[in-house]
Amino acid sequence: MVLKSPVVIYATRVAYCCDTMRSNFETSCDLHPDPFDCPDRLVWRDAQGRFGLILHDGGSSYVQIKYRPWCGTPLDLPKSG
Ligand SMILES: [Zn+2]
Ligand SMILES: [Zn+2]
Repeated sequence: MVLKSPVVIYATRVAYCCDTMRSNFETSCDLHPDPFDCPDRLVWRDAQGRFGLILHDGGSSYVQIKYRPWCGTPLDLPKSG
């Protein structure tokens, strides 16, 4: 029995600005259900709705970003502080 990783639920909440952004979130990789394991995944969205560039260092680190890496438009970030 194969269970999909729960991280995919966040993808449905992303407002996509372009196909590159969409494919990053919607492409599911059979080899790597965890996006941090997949070299094809560049951007991550955490449970708080923040975006980050995945650091493929074998862990689950990411660098928080405020602009979309492909088209440079501001991301829809959760209001904080
Ligand atoms: Zn874009
Ligand atoms: Zn992969």
